[in-house]
Amino acid sequence: MSDARPIRPDISAGRIGADMLARNFSDLHPPLEAHEALVEADRCYFCYDAPCMQACPTSIDIPLFIREIQGGNPVGAAKTILASNILGGMCARVCPTETLCEEVCVREVAEGQPVKIGMLQRYATDRLMETGVHPFTRAPSTGRRIAVVGAGPAGLSCAHRLAMLGHDVTLFDAREKLGGLNEYGIAAYKATEDFAQAEANFILKIGGIDVRLGQALGRDIHLADLRRDFDAVFLGLGLAGVNALGLSEGEDHQGLHDAVAWIADLRQTRDLSELPVGRRVVVIGGGMTAIDAAVQAQALGAEEVTIAYRRGREAMNASAYEQEVAATRGVHIRCNLQPKRILAEAGHVVGIELERTVTGPGGRLSGTGETVTIEADQVFKAIGQSFLPHGTDGEGEGIALERGRIAVDADRRTTLAGVWAGGDCVAGGEDLTVVAVEDGKIAAESIHAALAAAERVAAE
Ligand code: SF4
Repeated sequence: MSDARPIRPDISAGRIGADMLARNFSDLHPPLEAHEALVEADRCYFCYDAPCMQACPTSIDIPLFIREIQGGNPVGAAKTILASNILGGMCARVCPTETLCEEVCVREVAEGQPVKIGMLQRYATDRLMETGVHPFTRAPSTGRRIAVVGAGPAGLSCAHRLAMLGHDVTLFDAREKLGGLNEYGIAAYKATEDFAQAEANFILKIGGIDVRLGQALGRDIHLADLRRDFDAVFLGLGLAGVNALGLSEGEDHQGLHDAVAWIADLRQTRDLSELPVGRRVVVIGGGMTAIDAAVQAQALGAEEVTIAYRRGREAMNASAYEQEVAATRGVHIRCNLQPKRILAEAGHVVGIELERTVTGPGGRLSGTGETVTIEADQVFKAIGQSFLPHGTDGEGEGIALERGRIAVDADRRTTLAGVWAGGDCVAGGEDLTVVAVEDGKIAAESIHAALAAAERVAAE
């Protein structure tokens, strides 16, 4: 490292002006105007057996909703979307459409320019939410009570579908706000104007959902009690654990942050000009969280932001589009570098030493011994999260795990009778909002079917 390096790391707030901050945190893509939506809808071929629809984890009838937009009925289009995916508004903002519906759109395949399905979905759902009217009604009451633990995408989706089917739902969450990762975990510029709360409130308008916040499983509420007091339980617990870098020393220095916790703090900060950020920031990781942390650090006023990823660029979990967003915002992505040592002075991070890597046969990664040092005032760890089974074990009968997450069958049933689970806390599936929404929906339908079957047996 250069001798000119300041001893005191430079972490400060308000490095850029309010106008620039507002610009940096504004909508990533401005929403479509009405005439733009019509022009875009006209590009759709309304394919039979539409590949876009098959690629959507929630099976939204994409050609139908686009035709409804084309016909001047965006509210009807939104209803089509929300019937399959009640969080269609958020998914329109955060779904990696370029690797889902838009990747297989025939116009992408033929011309390299897909129909902007995500933007059209946002256009329609925004129009419906503006009306303030909830488009669905509840079925007659079944008299059944169901506990949903976790108010993230999986829990909200499950609670809504159960309420629609006529059940009474109690929705618990450990935090003070609804939304889970939508509220605490994604980059601020992807869901502006408090959209996560607006959408959660819109979902609650179905009725029949009693919300209990500040209630953590294993601390305030217990699985054994929920199983006793409710007819069924759904767990949408997310991933609360954070992986360590695994360094022999230096993981407790000031200036070394968990990227997930930092993003949550950022999302809850009302005045971003008061949020300190380093002048030089290094983010370790290759997923969406790494990109979100890096882009937002840059947006807050960091001058030099580097993502260091241990494998090659093609192995990054962040999509090519996300990588491009980072690059256009001035973030450097450096690959084949794995962390060796956090450099610190007086207990504060001043840099990070990384080792160059090579990928061998079978994808085996090994260090070359050659090291690189990057000066940094802040280092963010974004190397993945893990499931913490607090509250799902130690009560006699535990829930079986598979590769560290809750094992579920195709109906999202766990191994514990009367308990279903979905979202990031379950094994299999991708850690995507849209997949969590589908899990919640499938579990709700399965719970409904199981309760109806039990009723039939009791009546015989
Ligand atoms: Fe329209 Fe593309 Fe879907 Fe075909 S694949 S229905 S063109 S959005």
